[in-house]
Amino acid sequence: MESVSDYFGCMVFDDRAMKAQLPAPVYQSLRKTIDEGARLDASVANAVAAAMKDWAVARGATHYTHWFQPLTGITAEKHDSFISPAPDGGVIMDFSGKELIRGEPDASSFPSGGLRATFEARGYTAWDPTSYAFIKGKTLCIPTAFCSYSGDALDKKTPLLRSMEALNRQAMRILKLFGNTDVKCVRTSVGPEQEYFLIPQELYEKRKDLIYTGRTLFGAKPPKGQELDDHYFGVIKPRVAAYMEDLNRELWKLGILAKTEHNEVAPSQHELAPIYTTTNVATDHNQLTMEIMQKVAARHGLVCLLHEKPFAGVNGSGKHNNWSISTDTGVNLLSPGETPYENAQFLLFLCAVIKAVDDYQDLLRIAVATAGNDHRLGANEAPPAVVSIFLGDELTAILDAIEHDTPYLAAEKTTMKLGVNVLPRFPRDNTDRNRTSPFAFTGNKFEFRMLGSSNSIACANIMLNAAVAESLKIYADRLENAADFETALHDMIKKTIQDHKRIIFNGNGYDGAWIKEATENRGLCNYPTTPDCIPHILDEKNVTMLTSQKVFTQTELKSRCEITLDNYCKAVTIEANTMVDMARKQILPAVESYAAEVASAVAVKKAAAPQLTCAYESGLVTRLSAMTDQIAAYTDALEDAVLKLKGAESVITESQRIRDTVLPAMARLRAVADEAETVTAEEFWPFPTYGELLFGVR
Ligand code: ADP
Ligand code: MG
Repeated sequence: MESVSDYFGCMVFDDRAMKAQLPAPVYQSLRKTIDEGARLDASVANAVAAAMKDWAVARGATHYTHWFQPLTGITAEKHDSFISPAPDGGVIMDFSGKELIRGEPDASSFPSGGLRATFEARGYTAWDPTSYAFIKGKTLCIPTAFCSYSGDALDKKTPLLRSMEALNRQAMRILKLFGNTDVKCVRTSVGPEQEYFLIPQELYEKRKDLIYTGRTLFGAKPPKGQELDDHYFGVIKPRVAAYMEDLNRELWKLGILAKTEHNEVAPSQHELAPIYTTTNVATDHNQLTMEIMQKVAARHGLVCLLHEKPFAGVNGSGKHNNWSISTDTGVNLLSPGETPYENAQFLLFLCAVIKAVDDYQDLLRIAVATAGNDHRLGANEAPPAVVSIFLGDELTAILDAIEHDTPYLAAEKTTMKLGVNVLPRFPRDNTDRNRTSPFAFTGNKFEFRMLGSSNSIACANIMLNAAVAESLKIYADRLENAADFETALHDMIKKTIQDHKRIIFNGNGYDGAWIKEATENRGLCNYPTTPDCIPHILDEKNVTMLTSQKVFTQTELKSRCEITLDNYCKAVTIEANTMVDMARKQILPAVESYAAEVASAVAVKKAAAPQLTCAYESGLVTRLSAMTDQIAAYTDALEDAVLKLKGAESVITESQRIRDTVLPAMARLRAVADEAETVTAEEFWPFPTYGELLFGVR
């Protein structure tokens, strides 16, 4: 049998392929560009393009595309074939350095939030050599950034790369202060754990809500849900196992390090986690993973649901963003070290994260805000909309000792002075697993758990990298000018703990009492919905930080605010319209026909035996008909709420109206329709039920 190592990465123009295909000087020059961001000159670009094309054509590719991530949150591609006419009437396969480096998709239909007037619609794509090109189907895909002609980022990759650069700049200053002169660059790494649902395709196709919106908008609770906890880590069903096997193979061919898979809490919910890698590559890989998950599902007669909340009453799907900072020499800066200096350095980076998360809690919340994720955050199954950090008892006690200049352990006589005393050994494998914290330290990395399953991980990492870069900048400014480095370091760490300890919370994040404590006593932000948080992206402190770190321009931030709210409005409006359609064309006729059938049964029975009361049947008819009246009225009301959105003066007002009027109208309609489902005969119900959807894959 073919072994994984034989085909792993076979569809990727990775380092092995580059080495094999490129002349040595070209390879070295390209490597310099990848590792150090050096400029690539035209002759090298031509040589790389030719080698890439030959490699791809040998593997069956006929086309190439600049693969990018516009602000829709998914990926985009426009395919061009390699063919070029030859003088003899035939064709040759051709691909130039120019075509590799830069593309000009007609991009007028991508959202730009006013960044790009349609008359200057053409944006351009620029090759990101730090993420390897790969073959998908018959197309060579070249990872690219997408910008407008004026240089504004129209995608998620550009600000992500800028945020990595910002963090690199500031972290290098700190490392230098600690005497690390061998380090050439600092990068963040991410391992995203991806949750998803698998349901039978034939059932999916009967549900307009799933087709149009990715989630169910109606559906009564089935007799069994997730209450037995019998699915989590349970035995994987053969059909799902076959899917996972096929999926792994596809991912491995693309060099994606798919590693762990298991069943999740809800019935038919699963998770896939890759081995972590550099953040921009991890982001590209996660986008690809989501795409391939859906494609492979179709081959197995299944549909992979990536929506954050496909079903009411059972857990939704999230994505855990495991994040760390490391040097090119392989040192994880969030891992406690062996020597006093290493430990002091670790504590400084730890404090930089604590300060960043406290100062920019709102940006982290904003980074995960979508209509879909609003159903999860704070619904007692996912971390709340309030951001806090879990550090574990050990580390909290250490910080406490530093803050109060007290001994860390009663047994120790000296208090800790950073850089002088050997800090107590930290438990490297933090086994204390708090699952309810939005932002948890897990030994040598932080796990940000608020992301929704369909979110691009770019947004969260942009904000995280930028905010940490800002903390590091403030630290470096101070330390570079300090008369006594060690005292300054100690004081700064102590001050960070004093100023930012309110963000640290080791208890149960799902507890209502915590939200009260967090908002009332600690003054932490609580933005339950997307319209609540998004406008804060333009708060002065956020604009100042993000522009001074050169991650976004002010115009780009305005466009992001606009686009995110616009997406929210569109997503919910589509849901509302789908509900109206399903209620009128499917639910009302179904309940109505069932009522009519019961009513005619009453008539038939009474004609045969006039003394019968038919109390059950008559009662049912009355109840059904009261429900149809209500469903009809709530449907009209929902339609009305949507109509009233027209003419909103801004997208902010529109999103607030959606939150305050459309969503409640949807909830009212759903409640009565779901109740009707519980009393309508099965054969009359017009689409598959929750029971069938959730337990349909065997
Ligand atoms: P879990 O959170 O389910 O217990 P793990 O902690 O083993 O699982 O890992 C979850 C994810 O974290 C994986 O994708 C793994 O590759 C990633 N990960 C592990 N170490 C790091 C690190 N230093 N930086 C970033 N991600 C990491
Ligand atoms: Mg995890």
